[in-house]
Amino acid sequence: MISDQELTYILYQLGEEEKPYRAVTPSVVRSSNFAFSTISHYRGAIQNEKDIAIYSRGHNPTVRLLERKLAALQGTEDALVFGSGSGAIAAAVMRCVKAGDHVICVQNVYSWTYKLLHQTLSRFGVETTIVDGKNSAAVQAARRSNTTLLFLESPTSQRFELQDVKTLTAWAHAHGMRVVLDNSFGSVLNRKPAEYGVDFICHSATKFTSGHSDVVAGIVCGNAADIRDLFNEEYMTLGAILSPDNAWLLIRSLRTLAMRMQHSIRTCKEVVACLQTDERVAEVYWPFDPSHPQIALAREQFDVESPMFSFVLRTESREVVTAFCESLRVIQIAASWGGHESLIMPMIAFPESPFPFQQIRLYVGFEDVETLKADVLGALDQAFS
Ligand SMILES: *Cc1c(COP(=O)(O)O)cnc(C)c1O
Repeated sequence: MISDQELTYILYQLGEEEKPYRAVTPSVVRSSNFAFSTISHYRGAIQNEKDIAIYSRGHNPTVRLLERKLAALQGTEDALVFGSGSGAIAAAVMRCVKAGDHVICVQNVYSWTYKLLHQTLSRFGVETTIVDGKNSAAVQAARRSNTTLLFLESPTSQRFELQDVKTLTAWAHAHGMRVVLDNSFGSVLNRKPAEYGVDFICHSATKFTSGHSDVVAGIVCGNAADIRDLFNEEYMTLGAILSPDNAWLLIRSLRTLAMRMQHSIRTCKEVVACLQTDERVAEVYWPFDPSHPQIALAREQFDVESPMFSFVLRTESREVVTAFCESLRVIQIAASWGGHESLIMPMIAFPESPFPFQQIRLYVGFEDVETLKADVLGALDQAFS
């Protein structure tokens, strides 16, 4: 766990030593272009486009400030930010594969990650095997002589099933594979993936990092050499960059991340408890619940809990599930999560979903706990009346 002193240093001092006009917040450098007064200076910059501002598809000072803070938070040597989490994941995955390679990916990853591997990259001769990530033996049994990448998302989207990241990363490295982990659920305050040696730690910064549902962004953290290679190839060629304005918003958002998480987690615990004791709820999937079968793994992997879980209504009626969702007054029906507003993502809206229609994901935002509990209980009363 990152110490409070370290957090203060990273969020309030790192990279902010020299602010013009005695300002207390960093400036936004919107310039797309940067000029040089000598040929030798320009020539030198072209040799090191990652570190010197030439053109904002490469190095932009505001974006770079955000990246330095994110790398420090995740305990990695370096980081790159992207225009979306999916852009970050696509770049990191592409760094690890070429035509003829094989990927092992755990089941129930984020839907667009699945599409990237299963659909887009298969067109370029990359084959993917999907395995049950709870079962480390099954993951290992999927290895072929041409397997170059293990893709993890611990816990997975919707059902929140964990993988043994530590064991599987060590195993993958012993067989010459790279490991990419989607760490969005852990937020950038979780440092453990780097401690396990995960090569590329990806995040959708749209979620906890932004925290206000007003920025779409992605992060890749890793060691200096890998991040430099990623910059020189996928980052520059795909051009999936973040704007300086959005980078500035994320720098601002980071300053309150720990406080926001604490509030949501405290509220989430009460909402989970409220649903667990309600006979109209058949199942609650929250990996931080003491009764969860993978609680030991959750405690090992996460310094803090995360305020999102799924639950299953005890009914065989689609009308009851629909009525529950539509009876909520405060909690909204929407994709995404990690913002100020509490949201449900009901599986009944997704005909292709592998999960039962009674399953609903709930993200707990910043509203007060009594309002949220009353909202959920009121909707249960309406739906089951
Ligand atoms: C939202 C999400 C993504 C994709 O991030 P975008 O910023 O929407 O591109 C990837 N992984 C997980 C787990 C997510 O929830």
